[in-house]
Amino acid sequence: MAKHGGKNRYQLFDAEGYDHMAYRAALKTDLAAATSAGQLRIDYQPIADLDTGTILGAEALVRWHHPTRGILSPAEFVHLAEETGDIDAIGSWVLETATQQAATWRRNLPGCADLWIAVNLSPLQLRNPRSLAAIKDILSRPATQVANVILEITETALARNIEGGITALTELKALGARIAIDDFGTGFSSLSTLAALPADILKIDRSFLRAQEDKPLSTAMLEGILGLAHKLSLDVIAEGIEEPEQLHLLRDLGCTMGQGYHLSRPGPPQMMEALLLAQAPIPAAS
Ligand code: C2E
Ligand code: MG
Ligand code: MG
Ligand code: MG
Repeated sequence: MAKHGGKNRYQLFDAEGYDHMAYRAALKTDLAAATSAGQLRIDYQPIADLDTGTILGAEALVRWHHPTRGILSPAEFVHLAEETGDIDAIGSWVLETATQQAATWRRNLPGCADLWIAVNLSPLQLRNPRSLAAIKDILSRPATQVANVILEITETALARNIEGGITALTELKALGARIAIDDFGTGFSSLSTLAALPADILKIDRSFLRAQEDKPLSTAMLEGILGLAHKLSLDVIAEGIEEPEQLHLLRDLGCTMGQGYHLSRPGPPQMMEALLLAQAPIPAAS
């Protein structure tokens, strides 16, 4: 461990900065093989009907089981993969694996014929013609059941190349997929931009729930987003429901779909499968 304080402080800070750069560089090198070496895994988090607790679908969340550095979260490597270009292979792998997994669940589990699968996309996948073609190919497979696929893209990511993004998403929507704007409310996109997006769903960022200390304000913000979504005929999924109180508030405000630790944490396919098989409502209706 580096020793903090004292006259060596700046030197130590530099050493840490160097370590960090070396770490990033090493990870970037390792990324090239991660997909083909089978080091990527997907955790699934249920998306539920907030009134009944019924599981409507699952969001696919990628993890990197690194051979020496343990399990890395997407926050630790997705931006690096965007820099190296590995995001195309990773993104296609996630979409293919998650849609195949959902197809298997629909086929094998009773009562799951309409299960949705939500997959996150990087804007770079939309910008790369080969990557976009790969996405279309996967969506076009009959087993994918494209009407049950949700493609999630963040407001901030879209803003970086708004016109290209709209064109590509419009093409994907034309194939039958639904488009969700992820982390909605954090990207300050203008209302006119929102109206121009080929969106079907707004995913309300969890920061709007976390801010519950200032109840009147955050309630007003949630009401505003729900009202806006209603006016634009968009569905809403609330993210990051951690407490029963947040669930109750959302229900009172008329938000009907959501996900979060209070309902279920993300977990490996076996966890999702057990929840689907149990067919028991996850915490709701209480
Ligand atoms: P996201 O799409 O907004 O996904 C939700 C994140 O919030 C996930 O983090 C999830 O584990 C976490 N979460 C869920 N419920 C709760 C809760 O109640 N409380 C809190 N505090 N967190 C909750 P995760 O898995 O670390 O993913 C982070 C982000 O990485 C995702 O945010 C998404 O933007 C990105 N990501 C994940 N998988 C992929 C992927 O396959 N491709 C790309 N391009 N990005 C991905
Ligand atoms: Mg997401
Ligand atoms: Mg989100
Ligand atoms: Mg997020």
